[in-house]
Amino acid sequence: MKQLKFRNGDQMDAIGLGTWKSEKGEVTKAVKIALDNGYKHIDCAATYGNEAEVGEAFNEVFSRGEVKREDVWITSKLWNNAHKEEDVIPALKQTLKDLQLDYLDLYLIHWPVAFKPDVSFPEKAEDFLSLDEVPLIETWNEMVKAREQGLVKHIGVSNFSIEKLKELMEDTEHTPEMNQVELHPYLQQNKLLEFCSKHGINVTAYSPLGSGDRPEAMKAADEPSLLENPVINKIAKKHGASPGQILIKWSEQRGTAVIPKSTNEKRIKENLRSAGYQLDEDDMNEIADLDYHFRYVNGKFFEMEGNSYSNIYND
Ligand code: NDP
Repeated sequence: MKQLKFRNGDQMDAIGLGTWKSEKGEVTKAVKIALDNGYKHIDCAATYGNEAEVGEAFNEVFSRGEVKREDVWITSKLWNNAHKEEDVIPALKQTLKDLQLDYLDLYLIHWPVAFKPDVSFPEKAEDFLSLDEVPLIETWNEMVKAREQGLVKHIGVSNFSIEKLKELMEDTEHTPEMNQVELHPYLQQNKLLEFCSKHGINVTAYSPLGSGDRPEAMKAADEPSLLENPVINKIAKKHGASPGQILIKWSEQRGTAVIPKSTNEKRIKENLRSAGYQLDEDDMNEIADLDYHFRYVNGKFFEMEGNSYSNIYND
């Protein structure tokens, strides 16, 4: 499997396990299966509401001793209600406590959007703080401090457009080390990838399989889901792979990390084996033609009349 290199030489396995929408009752088992079967990269977030259950898996596997903590790359994310200077490190410490860890390998600002501290998910415009009230640089400076304190090894962002990255980078000498964004054949993010590569920012592809959804918009346009897409299925048949494996391989082959979520033992194992395939030039060209600029996670839930967030993805 490919490795992503960080500026200090650290390396991360390109294929990891996602944990969003993994039910509390299933995620401990899923993470244990993953770690016992060769995954060395797990993606978490405070807002997934299951970090304590993921932590149970880490505790059990690491105390058994066959898989060592230092051999696994663990990412988590700062939720939007903890962007204020005084809230960042306490939120990180809560995540560390829930995950039963001393440090994270990577900590990300989950979205370039801030909520009031007591809001878990906004329902009205008043639930937000504007980026004037809590500028990204205020949050970022605390992320830098967390790295200096050794609570996290690397820091980055998620759901940042080129414009948002530029805004942040103008205010700091500490360029983010990662941008985790939605990325799959229907949303290939070529410009963002080019920008990140130019600035030494690694990229992680989220929702690589289409997030388990076939949204109404796609149904109405009569587009098949990613996993049902005929081009993906044809290429899968040609290689004797599953459609999911082709989607995962496609991301890995383009040099990004990719974090498919599964709580199903067979699919957890199958997804890791994606690394063993190789897509040829014809496959890559055919997949390049599928770029509909379609988002499964479109951020519209943060755009409300009366708040200061519009066009979150403005590139
Ligand atoms: P994915 O694109 O990974 O799709 C997950 C869905 O696909 C689930 O329904 C899963 O079901 C199913 N699945 C898994 N493997 C296969 C397979 N081989 N064949 C067919 N179906 C399969 O969705 P996510 O949106 O969860 O994205 C992945 C991860 O990215 C998240 O879990 C999270 O960690 C991260 N993420 C980050 C975001 C951010 O804002 N930074 C936003 C969204 C996601 P089953 O479990 O039954 O196998």
